[in-house]
Amino acid sequence: MKFTSDKSIDYLPTDELENLQVELLKKHLRYTLANSPFYKDKFSEDDIKGISKLSDLSKFIRTSKKDLADCNSDFLSIAPREVVEYVTTSGTTGKPLSIALSKNDLERLAYNEARSLEIADFTPDDTVQITTTLDKCFMAGMAYYLGLTKIGAAVLRAGQGTPEFHWEMIKQINPTALIAVPSFLQKLGANSRSIPHQITKALCIGEPLRYADFSDNQLTKNIANHWNMDLRSTYASTEMATAFTECQEKKGGHLLPELIILEILDENGNEVADGEIGEVTVTPLGIEAMPLVRFQTGDLARKHTQPCACGRNTPRLGPIEGRLSQMIKLKGTTIYPTQIEEVLHLHPCASPYLIEIDQDENGLDSVSIILPDSCTMEDSATLIISLQAKLRVKPTLKKSSISAIQKLLFRENSRKPKKIIDNRNA
Ligand SMILES: [Zn+2]
Repeated sequence: MKFTSDKSIDYLPTDELENLQVELLKKHLRYTLANSPFYKDKFSEDDIKGISKLSDLSKFIRTSKKDLADCNSDFLSIAPREVVEYVTTSGTTGKPLSIALSKNDLERLAYNEARSLEIADFTPDDTVQITTTLDKCFMAGMAYYLGLTKIGAAVLRAGQGTPEFHWEMIKQINPTALIAVPSFLQKLGANSRSIPHQITKALCIGEPLRYADFSDNQLTKNIANHWNMDLRSTYASTEMATAFTECQEKKGGHLLPELIILEILDENGNEVADGEIGEVTVTPLGIEAMPLVRFQTGDLARKHTQPCACGRNTPRLGPIEGRLSQMIKLKGTTIYPTQIEEVLHLHPCASPYLIEIDQDENGLDSVSIILPDSCTMEDSATLIISLQAKLRVKPTLKKSSISAIQKLLFRENSRKPKKIIDNRNA
């Protein structure tokens, strides 16, 4: 595949889009069958021939993060000397998982990010400050850099740093846009009295900006207290190497049809109805080094297939509403940390915060919310009422110093704040 931008694909009628994806899927499956030691006996050429529509993919096996961790080297589908880059991502047991890329995979990544930035209305006229981690073997920062240079924007490769460092860069170069984790944008905004008006937009990763109905979540509202800019959300992972990015309508991230197939599955592996919640399961197309089939991300979200007001006919992926692994069973009720966070974002006293999940010897989950010392008795009482009303269960509140919370939040080797401490599988 030649990775030159062809935005017209996004506007194809839905039946033509599906036909195009079916052809690319068959090509991807043939390549995978011929080259991947992991998949070589998982399906056959007859299975591939049997595909006439996208839903036929449901007959193929799914791939879990555990498969990728346990049989990592079996996924390598090129000769080791053809590998040009190794990136890592968090595995299932805390041990990093490595993903290899070929030269073509890097080009695909640049193309993917260029397409994503164009959907987010980034242009060659932009000067963009990247505030996320660029090293530590993470894929995301590199992808932004490659995509920005591909569209011809100017890049400030600032990377992870303190608000003071970023403000120095902003004053010196006057960027027009930022790439940032939303909670860092909030922190950065709170750190200055005068916000430069030339920064008109930000591409946000790592945390959702909106609720499932696409209305702005509290974090987005908090950012708006400091910044007057257009916030767009992008979602991707190292394994999928493909982004879902919001257009100006902000009604979910648009799928790139030439690069990925998306399924939303229930716990039995069946596709859920349009707009229903389920596990994001992806088949990235055109990957050479470590091709995947039906990779289960563990993220929960909804797919929306009706055409978007922007004119694109590609499916959209709604905000991530939780992670399967973070499901908490609390006194018979199932909740996700994101639901707790939505309540916390409504209470200014709960900033910063940490959510700690534990399990006792009987397998029962418990949740503690760690708040700053500055939170008064009255604040805590109001928060408990609010949590109980929204979640119908009562987590335990604990207090700690702001510096101790910050230390746990922004750990050295993490690219986004780690607000959830899950001790259950530790
Ligand atoms: Zn759109």
